[in-house]
Amino acid sequence: MSAIPHLELSGVSLRYDEVRALEKVNLKVPVGDIVALIGANGAGKSSTLRAITGLCKVVEGEVHLNGQVINSTSVQEPAHKLVGQGVAMVPEGRHVFPYMSIKDNLLMGAYTRRDHAAIAHDLDAVCERFPRLKERFHQQGSSLSGGEQQMVAIGRALMAKPKLLLLDEPSLGIAPQIIRLIARSLVEINRNDGITIVLVEQNCRMALALSSYAYVLETGRIALEGPSKGLIDNERIKSLYLGG
Ligand code: ATP
Repeated sequence: MSAIPHLELSGVSLRYDEVRALEKVNLKVPVGDIVALIGANGAGKSSTLRAITGLCKVVEGEVHLNGQVINSTSVQEPAHKLVGQGVAMVPEGRHVFPYMSIKDNLLMGAYTRRDHAAIAHDLDAVCERFPRLKERFHQQGSSLSGGEQQMVAIGRALMAKPKLLLLDEPSLGIAPQIIRLIARSLVEINRNDGITIVLVEQNCRMALALSSYAYVLETGRIALEGPSKGLIDNERIKSLYLGG
């Protein structure tokens, strides 16, 4: 394992005018790991992703990607530059383009690439991973179920050939059997393709099952952290996030 974490937040605070969304958040994502970020509504999960992707400037602390500062009070790498540095995001709500075909939605993920043969190969690989998308390749995005749209959103992110994949609540509003399918595919993406994953979830059970380490956010602060296996048996986690 590399000594430099793939991603690191040190003492990160973030505000929206008067609203304090993050307070001195410390978080480490080792290369090749799946790290989960768990929390209730409004805990600051999306704000953490906004600090990482440069959508919001931090007011304190630093975000490091491969040891380089990408967000601080003096640096703010724009999101499009991070794509070139191997960061891809699967946003909450999926944002599939409704009037574009599945194929074109997926190809949008490769818009910065010029290696056409490799793009075609990667498109095949996404279809192999999600055969449902192959079956609906030429249908419009609007015709898909929530679960299928999530597959498109993940497939589109993979088309950017990321080294670090950030997922914002991939299980939200999706049927349980499709959640299982998506969970399996995330483990494969991590193990087979060697992609580091940050998994933001309210679905604590799924997040702890997939990740090796997890952070629990409460009102903008890291309230608890540890190896995911251990957190499953934590009484606080059980009562607050796993339904007793
Ligand atoms: P959810 O699961 O509901 O998306 P979250 O854990 O992702 O919640 P954030 O969206 O990061 O939480 O919100 C953290 C805090 O910042 C909350 O108090 C929220 O109300 C506030 N907040 C988020 N976005 C804005 C905004 N654009 N303007 C003002 N306050 C905001």
